[in-house]
Amino acid sequence: MPPDETQIANKGYSMRKIGIIGGGFSGTMTAVQLINNTIEPIEITIINERETFNKGVAFSPYSKKHLLNVSTAKMSAFADDPNHFLDWVMKQSAYQNKDKTIIANSFLPRYLYGQYLTDIWKETIHSKNAGKVKINIIEAYVIDLDVDETTVSVVLSDNESLTFDACVIASGNNIPGNPKIKNTSFFNSKKYFQNPWNIDCVSNTNSKKPILIIGNGLTMVDTVSGLLEHGFDNEIYSISPNGFNILPHRHSGIKYTNLIEELKEDATLYDITKLFNKHIKLIREFGLSAEPIIDSLRPFTQRIWQKLTVNEKRLFMSRLRHLWGVARHRIPLQIHDKMQHLRIEGKLKIFAGRLIDISETPDSVKVEFYSKNHKQKEEINVSRVINCTGPETDLMLLEKSFLKNCLMKGIITQDELKLGINADTETYQLVDRNGNKHANLFTLGSNLKGMLWETTAVNELRTQAEQLAKIILRNRH
Ligand SMILES: Cc1cc2nc3c(=O)[nH]c(=O)nc-3n(C[C@H](O)[C@H](O)[C@H](O)COP(=O)(O)OP(=O)(O)OC[C@H]3O[C@@H](n4cnc5c(N)ncnc54)[C@H](O)[C@@H]3O)c2cc1C
Repeated sequence: MPPDETQIANKGYSMRKIGIIGGGFSGTMTAVQLINNTIEPIEITIINERETFNKGVAFSPYSKKHLLNVSTAKMSAFADDPNHFLDWVMKQSAYQNKDKTIIANSFLPRYLYGQYLTDIWKETIHSKNAGKVKINIIEAYVIDLDVDETTVSVVLSDNESLTFDACVIASGNNIPGNPKIKNTSFFNSKKYFQNPWNIDCVSNTNSKKPILIIGNGLTMVDTVSGLLEHGFDNEIYSISPNGFNILPHRHSGIKYTNLIEELKEDATLYDITKLFNKHIKLIREFGLSAEPIIDSLRPFTQRIWQKLTVNEKRLFMSRLRHLWGVARHRIPLQIHDKMQHLRIEGKLKIFAGRLIDISETPDSVKVEFYSKNHKQKEEINVSRVINCTGPETDLMLLEKSFLKNCLMKGIITQDELKLGINADTETYQLVDRNGNKHANLFTLGSNLKGMLWETTAVNELRTQAEQLAKIILRNRH
């Protein structure tokens, strides 16, 4: 029974305190869903640094040219209102007289999506239901966390301590882990940029020598565009184990169902790969490539992943992950065209190979790698190295992190492949060293990668945020 106003005023009732660590998409939308759905007074505290509040890493880009990699029609923040983002875009002055069908199928700037989330937040905190909620936004960083039977306490960077009745870890994407090279002192060099989402990595460049980007995925593409925008005009190199070509969004809208119809519940990784290859062969006959097949698997990926054995997951990670990544993570056609032009002009060179070592010389950076194509050790000299290998998921490899502390204290555990944090995927409760679920500690988003594999895009996170908020609101004790 929710308390009435007299009970609250007389303090015969203590308002439930909910903490959210991280105010990116996941943290913001969990808070929005809590505010929209609560029937009793609650207090919500979101802890996040100022610049990325509401937006997170993805939607606070340093460049207005960085685009969403999902079309407008698929980016609603609310699962039950699929056109919410599209409708919002059509109301913005720059888009009001544009064709809605074209906008629905296009890839808009990521900063615009950040503005959309900020608008949702502002609207939510001024809604009628927000009257029931005390909202605190704290601009800080969580450096430690502890739990007891009924509360979760967090320590902030200024050593202030806060205690909550329930706490959501929505910490999202970690910065990339350092590459495995012999000379680890290079990581202290001013010519090494570990965080590819920070503008520093593309500013104040020296065009006298090329730049090396480690990694060959979507962040590499953004970084190339950022470097050009900042006037860099020497060659850009990229290195990755296979040097695969990044693919554009093609065949959009093709719905392929044949593979799913043949997919058995008890299929092993071997069966799935065999089926996959069979269907790729079938559609290649008609000039299509693997993307419609990958897209058809998307709604079932989490279920398939959960059924694989640990050995199968390991095999997938070592043999198939890169191929999956290429077919799954695609870029808008116009960006792809730009990348192709850069390659034809010789401005962008993509190497397939394994890094051996990187060292700073007085006037450059020497990079040694084993070339997959030439089967020999090769050397390049560059002016800086930017790490675009994707978020680090092994918590023990993070330099500083409250999650690493939690792992060491046994409050949380990682999956065998160290892709994320162990949690109950139905209730989002984290699991401790003894296999017990925490009553009041929850997570969502990329922290669930080990459990679900696909758990980073908006269309997964919006559902998680809604379900998690409802679970927290139900779990009143
Ligand atoms: C460059 C990029 C582009 C992307 N583009 C798309 C796209 O087009 N479409 C799509 O669907 N998905 C996209 N994604 C996926 C994206 O990860 C999700 O859509 C979503 O933005 C993730 O939100 P999040 O809140 O879980 O994580 P994040 O965005 O990483 O937000 C986490 C927040 O928590 C804060 N935080 C972390 N640790 C602490 C701490 N200890 N104390 C306090 N605060 C902390 C961070 O500062 C950050 O603000 C993209 C991802 C990236 C990295």
